[in-house]
Amino acid sequence: MKKPKKIFISNRLPFSIDLKTKSIKKGSGGLVSALLGVNLEDPFFWMGFETDIESAKKIKNETPNIIPHIRVNPVLVDKKTYDQYYDGFCNDVIWPLFHYESQHAFFKRSDWQAYVACNRIMADEVLKIAEPQDTIWIHDFHFLLLPKMLRQGNSNLKIGLFLHTPFPSSEIFRQLPVREQILNGMIQSNLIGFHEHSYLRHFTVSLKAHLGIDSTFFKAEVGDHDLHLGVYPISIDVEKWKNNSLSENVLVKSQILNEKIKIPFLILGVDRLDYTKGLELKLHGFRRFLQKYPDLRGRVSLLQIAVPTRTQVPSYIRLKKEVDELVGMINGEFAEPGYAPIHYIFNSLSEDELLTLYKRADCLLITSKRDGMNLVAIEYAISQDKSNPGVLIVSEFAGAASLLGQALIINPWDEDSIAEAIKSAYDMPVFEKIKRVKSLHVVLSQYSATQWALGYLKDLEAASSRTAKSPVVRLEAMNQYQSLDLFQKIMQAPKCLLVMDYDGTLVGIKSLPEFAILPNNLRTLIYDLGNYFSILIISGRDKEFLDEQFEDCDVTLAAEHGAFYRTGYEPWKSRVSSDIQSWFSEVKKVMKAYSETVPLSFVECKEASLVWHFRQSPTDFASFRAKKLDEELQVGLANQPVSVTIGSKIVEAKAVECHKGSFLKWILEHENFQDVLTICLGDDRTDEDMFKVLDQRGVSIKVGPGVTSAQYRLAGQEDVISFLKEVLNRKQADSKQNKIILHKKNQDFFKPQSIQF
Ligand code: UDP
Repeated sequence: MKKPKKIFISNRLPFSIDLKTKSIKKGSGGLVSALLGVNLEDPFFWMGFETDIESAKKIKNETPNIIPHIRVNPVLVDKKTYDQYYDGFCNDVIWPLFHYESQHAFFKRSDWQAYVACNRIMADEVLKIAEPQDTIWIHDFHFLLLPKMLRQGNSNLKIGLFLHTPFPSSEIFRQLPVREQILNGMIQSNLIGFHEHSYLRHFTVSLKAHLGIDSTFFKAEVGDHDLHLGVYPISIDVEKWKNNSLSENVLVKSQILNEKIKIPFLILGVDRLDYTKGLELKLHGFRRFLQKYPDLRGRVSLLQIAVPTRTQVPSYIRLKKEVDELVGMINGEFAEPGYAPIHYIFNSLSEDELLTLYKRADCLLITSKRDGMNLVAIEYAISQDKSNPGVLIVSEFAGAASLLGQALIINPWDEDSIAEAIKSAYDMPVFEKIKRVKSLHVVLSQYSATQWALGYLKDLEAASSRTAKSPVVRLEAMNQYQSLDLFQKIMQAPKCLLVMDYDGTLVGIKSLPEFAILPNNLRTLIYDLGNYFSILIISGRDKEFLDEQFEDCDVTLAAEHGAFYRTGYEPWKSRVSSDIQSWFSEVKKVMKAYSETVPLSFVECKEASLVWHFRQSPTDFASFRAKKLDEELQVGLANQPVSVTIGSKIVEAKAVECHKGSFLKWILEHENFQDVLTICLGDDRTDEDMFKVLDQRGVSIKVGPGVTSAQYRLAGQEDVISFLKEVLNRKQADSKQNKIILHKKNQDFFKPQSIQF
């Protein structure tokens, strides 16, 4: 059997052609080193765009000599379309919007069309080489539509997407005119990775707001598959940076630099000249420092490396002008003979030159307004000499801040916060600097770039295998039923147990639980079905409610997810043996408090369970509060005999015996049910527990959309009635033909003398 492939996709390839020398050069940056450092046994392809046919040929032909274990596949796209996709949509819409800079976002329909076209071109090229079971790892915001396009082309691919930028708050994201298309593209992945928890949280809120998809922080249910979510902060090649920082070359250069730079305290800034990096905020903060601490003028300088980027774009030209002017203004204000407060270099440096500066600088100052991660901060921390390190100051809006707890964290919008952090860095005793850097090294050593990539790939494999399910057969139309072996099974079985959930299965979901009453025609249908099947209604409802609905039906009822049951007309019995008192009143108090703050929400108190309902409440707020309540209860009730779940517009706390799966298992284990065909219908997560118990021993039917382990699916609750009618018709026709005499009460095998429920 062929080995599955790994295919990585990024906008640009890890190799490009140097226009001057026409030679191949390796790309720089964290992603390239992270991914090239991954030592894979599987065949490994890397695909990215090229606009020049000669460069594409050269890269394709020559990279095998440089890096034999990777097949670099340039995908050719015409320059005009590429520019519209890259400059027009990626950089002028997604980049600013995802970094909360919507004033820099300019949406043009033609650029969006180019974005769709480029995603399509990439999808077609990937699908030419991808085979089922291959792993596709898509990088960044350039390809947010690609997961869906690939899934449509080959549903068995393992598709991972990693977003290297922030994912903005839903209030910003909703400004995107094509927000639904973007989300619909992304959710067809098996795993989406983010650098930081807040990005993931924002994504889940947008999923709910725009697509109505519920999710936890780990998973969302999307149609027929699970979308897994995770946080994987990228890092650098820690060992390489550590070793390079100790290399002879860097040490010699550092000494030369030391002699050149006489200033006692050098602050370093290294940023692309991008509006997200907050260079102007840094300059204002530094100015504030010089104002506040005049004694330190002449002793502290800022060396700012501003790396040119998108130099032809008007907003970047304006930013450069603003920064140039600010540098001039501050130098004009505070310079003295022999002292320049700011040294400003508008150029990029080599890795060695950077390292030399990292080693010399007494402090690194990062003031990003938003930054997916910020590798410069990590590189600086790792390059520090542990016996005499510098101090790291990082904006709280950089993803890296969540890893760098021992840095000085600042709010870059507050000039005083920057000024005070510089002062603290200046005053910091050496032992404290050492302590901080040592603990930064400990944290960062656990997050090397290769570990990052391998960790993500491992989770992607696991997510994809958990997602892979046997296909669910859709029971869509009556005439389609003819062809299904399902009916043969039902007709041939000598004894059948029909297990049905109540809300969402037998009766549609209503705005208030008390409105979901059993219609008379359905009661009659169930009564008639009782001639041929044993019927078990299993529900989260309480005993009284079920009693009212099934007053005249000789069915078995299981209330509160199987904690209580009643066979035929016998009295209710309890399966609860755990200590409900240990948690019940406390949970009730907490839920009541939530119901008081969330309009139109309320608490339903049952005997062994409590439910907080918020179906009629304002969706966003209530969903947000539901997650909080869930968290609070999960933590507060750890080790208690109770389980807490978020369901469809509810949060439920129930005794451990309230479990449909364990109830069904208990029933089926009894000898009376050994030769019985069990048909189980349900619509929500609690019913999945029954489907799992049933496995291949019976017939499981999921009602409505969503991930399921059932064998069959009915599109919606309305189809349940027609399905049951069809079953009844067939049974009636069969019994007429075979002159079967009905035993009106067919519940007998539910209550044999030997069963002591
Ligand atoms: N870098 C570089 N030369 C420079 C400035 C930066 O090679 O003159 C590298 C730096 O070492 C880092 C990357 O560019 O690896 C910048 O990554 P970061 O995440 O800090 O910012 P980005 O530019 O990706 O937003």
